[in-house]
Amino acid sequence: MPEIKKLLIANRGEIALRIHRACHEMGIKTVAVHSTADADAMHVRLADEAICIGPPSAAESYLNIANIISAAEISGADAIHPGYGFLSENAKFAEIVEAHGLIFVGPKPEHIRTMGDKVEAKRTAGALGLPLVPGSDGALTDSAEAKRLARDIGYPVLIKAASGGGGRGMKVVPSEDMMDTLMAQAGSEAKAAFGDATVYMEKYLGNPRHIEFQVFGDGKGNAIHLGERDCSLQRRHQKVLEEAPSPVITAEERERMGGIVAKAMADMGYRGAGTIEFLWENGEFYFIEMNTRLQVEHPVTEAITGLDLVREQIRIAEGHPLTLRQEDVIFRGHAIECRINAEDPRTFAPSPGLVKQYHAPGGMHVRVDSGLYAGYKVPPYYDSMIAKLIVYGTTRQGALRRLRRALEEFVIDGMKTTIPLHQALLDDPEFQEGEYTIKWLEDWLAKQQA
Ligand code: ADP
Repeated sequence: MPEIKKLLIANRGEIALRIHRACHEMGIKTVAVHSTADADAMHVRLADEAICIGPPSAAESYLNIANIISAAEISGADAIHPGYGFLSENAKFAEIVEAHGLIFVGPKPEHIRTMGDKVEAKRTAGALGLPLVPGSDGALTDSAEAKRLARDIGYPVLIKAASGGGGRGMKVVPSEDMMDTLMAQAGSEAKAAFGDATVYMEKYLGNPRHIEFQVFGDGKGNAIHLGERDCSLQRRHQKVLEEAPSPVITAEERERMGGIVAKAMADMGYRGAGTIEFLWENGEFYFIEMNTRLQVEHPVTEAITGLDLVREQIRIAEGHPLTLRQEDVIFRGHAIECRINAEDPRTFAPSPGLVKQYHAPGGMHVRVDSGLYAGYKVPPYYDSMIAKLIVYGTTRQGALRRLRRALEEFVIDGMKTTIPLHQALLDDPEFQEGEYTIKWLEDWLAKQQA
């Protein structure tokens, strides 16, 4: 079995640090790569070696495959972990890594490719027995066909880009007279954003929750699920706060649906970590997409299962069997994660800058994943998420109380952050009851601003 001795982390920020920590606990040396803007970043400081791979622009650094592969060769790394975002779901990158005799800590390239194309992903998910949102059977080409289909499904319908991501390239079509215009718009926007004009249709669900299952496969036909996360609190289709377990899923539902997704992954021969995303409405699950990588919100799953997901990814990449059998996975307590962004908490305008003072909360069952330190300058070039605060409690109410206490302690001085937004959310009775859907946060924000 190949043993990883030195791992290159092809990412930045808190996730680069997260991967570094797992490696050092496993006795694996780390190589950080960074842009010129990130020379002072915490992951660069802590890694055993660091190599500059380009200028600030991500296209020339964190997405620069040739420079990343060269950095791996120069440093003698034997594996690459892509983190999330950047190259993590780039099948070509995974292939190139493997062609260079390096271990890719991630799924098989063909599975990344299949799941990266949403039309292909839906077809595959359907064939594996996952419940789908009613919609077109594949790509949609002409608007007459689209209208016929939409009449069957019932308006409103959603036109989505096959190569879409980050909630972009979606159009809600309220009625037939809007179909021609909106379908053409969706296609040209998709072409501009993703270089692919392919679109497909789904029934537009009025007020669902976003519930996703964490899965792990060994690549040899064995797979388990680690339960669900509720990521319904979104703004512009971007997750803001996540929790596990979902306030609305019973143990029986978790076992039933988890069994279905784990079997699907086993049948597929899936390798590594993955997330199967569903919309959930009136007690029914509808598959929307699969992410073939580690997710930002993975720590809430770690908190309730006790499993280190990055360690598990690395062990699977080395060819080890899964650490746990399904019957060994025990869900305990409740965990909540707040994404803390360097943004104005009311307008969401980015607010990068110098961290003048920094104090992270601590104490029992409080985890902060962040590369911040006093004197660090948050660069303006990348994602605005600067920290994740994860709390655990034996009950949801306990976790909420701990979250309030931890947010009170958190000091990030020098820039605006979304900490006050999370504090205000915690005061809302509906949020406290777990009564929210994917629409809820935007309505709540509109009320706050009124
Ligand atoms: P992306 O890859 O761009 O994130 P997804 O398919 O994951 O696209 O959808 C992102 C978000 O868009 C979902 O979390 C949900 O809020 C909304 N959404 C997607 N499909 C539908 C649908 N059929 N009906 C209603 N909302 C949807």
